[in-house]
Amino acid sequence: MANAATIQLLVLDVDGVLTDGGLYIDDKGKPSKQFNVKDGLGIKLAQRFGIQVAILTGKTSQVVEHRAEELGIELVIQGSKDKGADIVSLAERAGVPLSDTAMVGDDLPDLPAFKVAGYAIAVGDAAEEARHAAAFVTSRPGGRGAVREAVEHLLKAQNKWDAAVAVFNE
Ligand SMILES: [Mg+2]
Repeated sequence: MANAATIQLLVLDVDGVLTDGGLYIDDKGKPSKQFNVKDGLGIKLAQRFGIQVAILTGKTSQVVEHRAEELGIELVIQGSKDKGADIVSLAERAGVPLSDTAMVGDDLPDLPAFKVAGYAIAVGDAAEEARHAAAFVTSRPGGRGAVREAVEHLLKAQNKWDAAVAVFNE
């Protein structure tokens, strides 16, 4: 059974989840992406309160490497052709059972990971199929605080949210 209270690993898709899905290509053909500072804070809070964070994306870019490094995310798989298989390997590397692993996604390639993860979260503007397959759908869209909202949802289910807020209320 899906249970937000036991999640110890949060796996994030990039395009459409950590970004609004926009792909920026400069005149040298180099891709760049826009990330959200609220999501960054959410990721830091998750890590601080006992939830490891991983990235699982079908595309490959240096931008993602830089952002992962900035956020202290060591578990990263780029260029995934099968997110169902790759989330299994991320969970193994994290030492967390799949039942205690959550996946945040927005579209069809995320469905195989939704199937094997203990808890599936869709962003608010995810494809209908992803929203239907999810145990929780954020009200915020991808790239606009959906990841922060997902973290808040998990930490509340784990009775850790008040402690997270208290960090900023000293
Ligand atoms: Mg996506």
